[in-house]
Amino acid sequence: MSILKVARLGHPVLRGIADDVAPDELSSPALQKLIDDMIETMKEYDGVGLAAVQVHEPKNIAVLEVADSPRYPNKPKVPLAVLVNPSFTPLSDETEEDWEGCLSIPELRGVVPRYKSIRVQARDRHGNKLELTASGFHARVIQHEWDHLHGKVFFDRMRDLSTLAYLQELSRYGAAR
Ligand SMILES: [Zn+2]
Repeated sequence: MSILKVARLGHPVLRGIADDVAPDELSSPALQKLIDDMIETMKEYDGVGLAAVQVHEPKNIAVLEVADSPRYPNKPKVPLAVLVNPSFTPLSDETEEDWEGCLSIPELRGVVPRYKSIRVQARDRHGNKLELTASGFHARVIQHEWDHLHGKVFFDRMRDLSTLAYLQELSRYGAAR
């Protein structure tokens, strides 16, 4: 397995729409290696999610896992999941705001509104159908990754850019607003 280079904001790959993965593509060793490398890369950088576009592969794949992340302490745990061609529908119009960061936008945090609960449909890495409901931080991570797969980053979803803060200053001074 290898640690992959993470694309940073400004790289055009982050603004493209990822291609759906065909079922037979999932049986290719190259694609399975990509998924393994994405998981390895996410863990290496203490991320809680990573989309393939972030490692320069415009494919509709995201991985996520919330373990004991030093970047997101005190968050509920989410087991490792590979989402291929994910889609989601909100379970209600209810949204909540919370802080987000992004491995493609190092060090910065901002407050982003997201749907509180969503139903997710996807394939797993073997092509099996996955259906799950997610709420709170879990739902937030999936919406953040879904955005990546559609050319968006969390800045695009922020209602108030004045909440933007460097993580170090945020831990030192708390939220400015
Ligand atoms: Zn991100």
